Amino acid sequence: MNFLDLATHYLYNPIKGRYQTNDSIQVFLKTLSHEFIQKEIGTSFLKKPITSIQFGSGKIKVLMWSQMHGNESTTTKGLIDFLNYLNSEENAKEIKDNFTLLCVPILNPDGAELYTRENAVKVDLNRDAKNITQPESKVLRALYLNFQPDVCFNLHDQRTIFAAGDSKLPATMSFLAPAYNKKREFNEVRLKTVAIINAINAELQKIIPNQVGRYDDAFNENCIGDYLMTQNTPTILFEAGHYKDDYQRDEVRKFVFVSILSALTKIASDFNDFDNELEDYLKIPQNKVSFQDFLYKNIKINDDGNEKIINFAAHFKEVLKNAKIEFEARISEIECVESKLGHFEFDGMKFEFDSEFGKKPIIDKKADFSLNKMLKFRNGLQIN
Ligand SMILES: [Zn+2]
Repeated sequence: MNFLDLATHYLYNPIKGRYQTNDSIQVFLKTLSHEFIQKEIGTSFLKKPITSIQFGSGKIKVLMWSQMHGNESTTTKGLIDFLNYLNSEENAKEIKDNFTLLCVPILNPDGAELYTRENAVKVDLNRDAKNITQPESKVLRALYLNFQPDVCFNLHDQRTIFAAGDSKLPATMSFLAPAYNKKREFNEVRLKTVAIINAINAELQKIIPNQVGRYDDAFNENCIGDYLMTQNTPTILFEAGHYKDDYQRDEVRKFVFVSILSALTKIASDFNDFDNELEDYLKIPQNKVSFQDFLYKNIKINDDGNEKIINFAAHFKEVLKNAKIEFEARISEIECVESKLGHFEFDGMKFEFDSEFGKKPIIDKKADFSLNKMLKFRNGLQIN
């Protein structure tokens, strides 16, 4: 089986959708064999347990954590699928012999439950790496210092707004070899990180061509990846992004699985030749803010008596309701620039906009409107 087939085969079905918390992953953790050492390594601000899972007895130590940002659950799902794969004996042997893996599926359980980026007291844990003011940051620091990993994986989600460079395709997965100084120089630690990302990219290009992006490398020592690079630990930022129609991100989780497996395969290969690695890495297009979820083109509006033809956009707001995430389309931009892209695009053929709020779209109002009083749109989508 190739990596994508494995990701599909071992996708852990009971865990689906965007809302993932300590409670929702419990059922999976109970399926793991005794070879997976589960530990409560500390608690969150609201005293929820933070759990780690250790696997393997190899000499290469890899530390990975997900949901440092509470509403970023796709990499958690990809990691769970990967652990599910390791839990199947015949597959695990090589990884078990080569690696000691230490995984934290949900570093920010309070944010996960609240479905917020930040923790319970609204601190962004990825801006707390140097100051370590929060209990969750302290837990990760202690884990790092005790374990002394050779490589770290910093697992995140990114919003749907990013394109892979100037392409019209979303950045479905993005990566970064973080800088270790303001000059953003490349030392051996950073080049090693770059080489691992190149290996992941080569694998992903086979399944999502031109949908891999490179993240901005502005240096900020309070970001965990940058901080760990200053400590000479190669740290890869993984960002799971948008894939066509996959707002639940149950397709993208497979690409997370593929990324983790390709990264470990590269790390196990004991590489030390970095010729051309930087050149290849810089060829990965940088993430560019290009997308809104909905783009409506050639729409006639009436702006206080002035008729004009514009493009406008709507974007999903993710709202937690009854332990589920609802996607509410809201007007996000009016008179968009020509280069703006939409995951859903509609040509209004100069039809006239109308809504309960008037004859021009208003920022933040729900994307419920009609065109020429004939075509009706609800929650961004045409319904007739
Ligand atoms: Zn994040």
